[in-house]
Amino acid sequence: MDTFSNLIGGEWTEGPGITENINPSNTDDVIGRYAQGDAAQANAAIAAAKAAAPSWARTNVMVRHNILKAAAAEIFARAKELGDLLAREEGKTLAEGIGEAGRAGQIFDFFAGECLRLAGEKVPSIRPGVEIEITREPMGVVGMITPWNFPIAIPAWKIAPALCYGNTIVIKPAELVPGCAWALADILKRAGLPDGVLNLVMGKGSVVGEAILSSPDVDAVTFTGSVATGKHVAMKCAEHMRKVQLEMGGKNPLVILDDADLDIAVDCAVNGAFFSTGQRCTASSRLIVTEGIHDRFVEATIAKLQSLSVDDARKDGTHIGPVVDAKQLDTDMNYIEIGRGEDGARLAWGGERLNRATPGFYLQPALFTETSNDMRINREEIFGPVATVLRVKDYDEALAVANDTRFGLSSGICTTSLKYASHFKRNAEAGMVMVNLPTAGVDPHVPFGGRKGSSYGPREQGRYAAEFYTTVKTAYQLA
Ligand code: NAD
Repeated sequence: MDTFSNLIGGEWTEGPGITENINPSNTDDVIGRYAQGDAAQANAAIAAAKAAAPSWARTNVMVRHNILKAAAAEIFARAKELGDLLAREEGKTLAEGIGEAGRAGQIFDFFAGECLRLAGEKVPSIRPGVEIEITREPMGVVGMITPWNFPIAIPAWKIAPALCYGNTIVIKPAELVPGCAWALADILKRAGLPDGVLNLVMGKGSVVGEAILSSPDVDAVTFTGSVATGKHVAMKCAEHMRKVQLEMGGKNPLVILDDADLDIAVDCAVNGAFFSTGQRCTASSRLIVTEGIHDRFVEATIAKLQSLSVDDARKDGTHIGPVVDAKQLDTDMNYIEIGRGEDGARLAWGGERLNRATPGFYLQPALFTETSNDMRINREEIFGPVATVLRVKDYDEALAVANDTRFGLSSGICTTSLKYASHFKRNAEAGMVMVNLPTAGVDPHVPFGGRKGSSYGPREQGRYAAEFYTTVKTAYQLA
């Protein structure tokens, strides 16, 4: 079986520990043996990133462009293979895995272009004979801590802008999905990235992640993951007065109004709530439906769920793959039990563990109806294929319920009314708003992120990524 090492200062370096990467569709299938780093390796990686930083910051933008472009080209060329690895280690369907790999390619492609568009401003001073230049400079060493649910897209959308704007990197991917991050590090090394510019240290959050957070030599930290870990990351960064960016959970509402196109509404709900096994921060976990369409919507949604196949992520015809691991499956089952116990709520479909040809973490998508917004299943992020329906009387109540949450990542509405669509876009308390589209599924070249408890710090992706990966300098000169 193949063994995969950490990348430190340009050298593939075995870890003090090793862990098996297991396929959630078939727990007998071990994908590979991956290094488990420790604090010493994390610190060596940080030292390598620090040493490489001055030279990478000055590296010609055409060289940076060429490296990112070459990485994009290889990712596009290997999208099927990388998508298969992703489906095998995370449990997304093959089509979803290939789509995500393609998206990683698009992100590298976008930031390859951005390397050639870096610019500053020259502005007149109010003082005679003085010139002012405003420029953006790299932050230095960026620590990256990523979650398991987008194993290639999230590392890509942190690595590509960091490199574009001249930073060096220490990345720690989630323990459950080291394979895709390892593949990216390998691609970038072979694309010509100088030693030490990107360092990969796989391992535990409590060990490698903590070492990154504790180092005075890390200039900025970008984190995607749960709210609980995110708060801890923020506190540690505050101790060091260090720039931090957090992308965390969601409890995203999808409003369905009486005048919605029923087919579009059901597609948006089923895709948004259950595809990728509901394991998306942008998943539509609360379906807020007005009275006039409620019963038809529930009936059509259940009919659609009945037609979906839950099976091995890489099997032809599978619509929904397994839950990522035993722990997440326990969490999902536990919330389904909590939902069953909530006064009034009805488990209208699913929620059963499923057996398939191979041992895996299969769960039938669960739909609760007749729920109210104060129930735990409507307040807490479950992060699995579990969604609720909330019955409301009109648009005003729908909007109030949609906004009544501590999260604010993505918010959607299905309606044919221009008036309500426009009002919702202006008044939804979320970083991203979708009209007649699923709450999940975003473009790679525009800002991504939320508000309230979902995000903290500057946005990711697109040109807005510069806010986090650069610091602004204002230079005055007597001409
Ligand atoms: P998690 O918080 O458990 O782990 C995220 C990362 O933090 C992992 O790499 C983990 O090893 C690391 N970590 C854990 N403890 C740490 C510590 N003490 N110090 C440093 N690092 C530590 O989250 P997860 O279960 O991997 O991911 C699921 C969560 O991610 C969900 O809440 C989901 O909503 C969120 N998510 C958010 C977005 C977004 O952009 N808003 C995108 C994807 C996932």
